[in-house]
Amino acid sequence: MIYNKKTVRDVSFQGAATLVRCDFNVPMKDGVITDESRILGALPTIRYLMDQGAKVILCSHLGKAKGPDPSLSLESVAQRLTHHLGRPVLFAKDDCVVGEEAKKGAASLKPGEVMLPENTRFRPEESKNDPLFSKELASLATIYVNDAFGSAHRAHASTEGVTHFLSPCVAGFLIEKELQFLGDAVNHPKRPFVAILGGAKVSDKIKVIDALLEKVDTLIIGGGMAYTFLKAQGYDIGQSLLEEDRLEYAKDMMEKARQRGVALLLPIDHVVGDGFREEAHASVTEGASIGEGLMGMDIGPATIASYRKAIEGAKTVIWNGPMGVFEFPAFEKGTKEVAQAMAQCDAVTIIGGGDSAAAVHQFHLAEKMTHISTGGGASLEFLEGVSLPGIAALDDKEEQAQ
Ligand code: ADP
Ligand code: MG
Repeated sequence: MIYNKKTVRDVSFQGAATLVRCDFNVPMKDGVITDESRILGALPTIRYLMDQGAKVILCSHLGKAKGPDPSLSLESVAQRLTHHLGRPVLFAKDDCVVGEEAKKGAASLKPGEVMLPENTRFRPEESKNDPLFSKELASLATIYVNDAFGSAHRAHASTEGVTHFLSPCVAGFLIEKELQFLGDAVNHPKRPFVAILGGAKVSDKIKVIDALLEKVDTLIIGGGMAYTFLKAQGYDIGQSLLEEDRLEYAKDMMEKARQRGVALLLPIDHVVGDGFREEAHASVTEGASIGEGLMGMDIGPATIASYRKAIEGAKTVIWNGPMGVFEFPAFEKGTKEVAQAMAQCDAVTIIGGGDSAAAVHQFHLAEKMTHISTGGGASLEFLEGVSLPGIAALDDKEEQAQ
């Protein structure tokens, strides 16, 4: 999927009411925001639009609301935005999102001022991409900016529906950056191109394994999904995660790798536990087989060495999915060392996937990566090569004159 989309740089905003879809889906505990990264990430686009004289109407979903829910109100986000922007952000407290407050607020905005209506999922029509709700949202503005990469894989009213009623529709800086880094890595990779896939389940990553096998030079597999591949090769895997119904698929993928000349690396040893527990007794296996009653919880030292070597020789590395149960300290080493190898190598390094990004932050290696995607599900779908509706709906850049 190659996108060539207009961005906020291509549009004049002076005096224009502009609807900006942000990703304010922040983690909350007891009404308090526990991590502000997403709010901070949205600031460059918001500040730019304020400076350009737009009347800025932000919008976002928060959590899994299925209707009005005070615990998922965006009011605290509006307060944090006010703090960071140093200017009051008008919060329109309508449970119906586009109510009297929002309409009055939008009409009263002066260039450079900012407003935020309620959580778009307070309206069940949001997730149904209902055209009437899309039209209501769109009625607040004339121009549309999408900067919510993490929601771009969903065709919802605020991500896709509104684009049918607003013009122009362009990408903000966050989406621009995602398209640049993910797009370049997948479509014009510097080689050798290495992909590292892990995480719990093969079934979550079926399409991405298939798609990446057509692009990469080396595919590294670790984490819970590796055991289905090892089982398909005839190894004993003890109590490790297994998806019986994916054994044939694993065989097909190994055959596809062989035919395409892609090096497919699987674990050659493991750190096993005597159960899926933080305090499980950890030991290292001699080879790729796992004894009865034991469970593969992390890749072993010989595997780490082999994966490190592949990463060291790479020019592009994409990583999605931890190598083991990194949440338990006894089983974090494989994930940590792969992250370190990426941090140390001189390749373009890209992290997609929510848990992989969390692991990189946990190991304080975020600064060392070229790009950490802000969208877990969206980045996975991007790597699968499927069209992201929230991005496909934005205006294409005009062809450059030859
Ligand atoms: P991402 O969010 O980066 O795409 P996933 O959601 O696919 O990653 O997978 C992350 C989860 O996989 C983590 O919670 C981790 O504990 C789990 N996992 C990794 N290795 C194993 C394993 N060997 N057995 C069980 N779970 C595992
Ligand atoms: Mg995950």
